[in-house]
Amino acid sequence: MTQLEQLPLPLLLWYHENARTLPWRSDPTPYHVWVSEIMLQQTRVAAVLDYYKRFLEALPTVADLAACPEDKLMKLWQGLGYYSRARNLQKAARQVMERFGGEMPSRYEELLTLSGIGDYTAGAISSIAFGQPVPAVDGNVLRVVSRLTDDHRDMTRPEVKADIRDALTKIIPRDIPGAFNQAMMDLGATVCLPNGAPLCEKCPAADFCAGCLTGTARDLPVKAPKKARKIEERVVYLIFRDGKVALRRRPARGLLAGLWEYPNEPAPWPCPVEGKADFAAAGKHIFTHKEWHMKAYAVEAETEALPQDWLWAGGEELADTYALPSAFAPFAHIVAQRVK
Ligand code: SF4
Repeated sequence: MTQLEQLPLPLLLWYHENARTLPWRSDPTPYHVWVSEIMLQQTRVAAVLDYYKRFLEALPTVADLAACPEDKLMKLWQGLGYYSRARNLQKAARQVMERFGGEMPSRYEELLTLSGIGDYTAGAISSIAFGQPVPAVDGNVLRVVSRLTDDHRDMTRPEVKADIRDALTKIIPRDIPGAFNQAMMDLGATVCLPNGAPLCEKCPAADFCAGCLTGTARDLPVKAPKKARKIEERVVYLIFRDGKVALRRRPARGLLAGLWEYPNEPAPWPCPVEGKADFAAAGKHIFTHKEWHMKAYAVEAETEALPQDWLWAGGEELADTYALPSAFAPFAHIVAQRVK
C-alpha cells in the first residue's frame, strides 16, 4: 500500500479525537462553509472567529449577502484584508440568486463557476456541506502530502498540485469525504506544521510517513523562491478640521479597491490643502507583492474646501460607516485623539 492509501483510517481516528471546535463546523450549511473558507484564505483561524460571527449575524443568508450595501459589506470585512474576497463573495451570492434560485449548487463543477470560488473552496463546500467525494487541496494539504510521500517536486507548480489532487481523489473515503478533508486541514494546521517544524511524534501517520522515516520532512515542501516585494515610499496626510478628518475613496479597481483612506500618494507629495503639515508618525504595511513604507503628516486645514469627492468624517462615521484598510492602523490613535 502507498502512504496515501494507508492514510484515511488512522487520520480519521485521530480526527475523531482531535478535531478543532470551530463555529462553522457545528452547523455546516453550504453558506457557512463557504463564508468560513473564504475568510480563512490567507488568514489565521483565530483572526477569523469574531469576523465570522459578526458577518453571519448581519448577513445570515445568501440573499442577505446579495442585497448588502457596499459600505456595510466593507465595514464587516474591515481589518480582515484581501478585500476582493468580500467583493467576490457578494458577486457570487448574486450569481447564486440569479442562476441557482438562491440555493448554493452542490456540484464541484457548478461551484467553480461562481466568483471567487477556486478548486480548494469548491472542494471544501461540495465535500463538507454536500458529502461529495472531492478533495480540498491548499498549501497545508500539499505540505502534508509532500512530506508523507517524500515528494520533492515544486509544490507551487499547477501540474504538481493537479497530480496530488488526482491522487487524493482516489483515496478520499466515499462515505465521509468532508471529515477527511477537515482532518487534513487540522493535521496541517496543528501537527504537520510549516517552516520545518512538523510534530511527527503527535502524528497519526508517523509509522508510515516517508518524509518522517527518512528525515526529509523538515525540508519539505519544495517551493520556488518568491519574488522580492516592491517597496513604495508613501506620504499620508491626516487632515483635520472641526473634529473631523478628511477621507477619500480608493479607485474601484486594484489594490484595496473602493475602500476609504486618509489621502496618500507615493513620496514626494506636497500637502493637498492649505495648512501647516507636521510629521506625525511612520508606518509600514505588507501586501502580497509590495510594501508601503509610510510617513504621515498631521494638518489642521485652514478652510473646509477639499478636493472633489473627498469628505469630512467624524468619529461616529469612522466607526460605523467608512471602512478603512488596516494599512492605516498605525495612524488610528492620532486620528482618534483629534476627531469627535
Ligand atoms: Fe507531517 Fe511528520 Fe505527520 Fe509526516 S509524520 S505527515 S512529516 S507530522
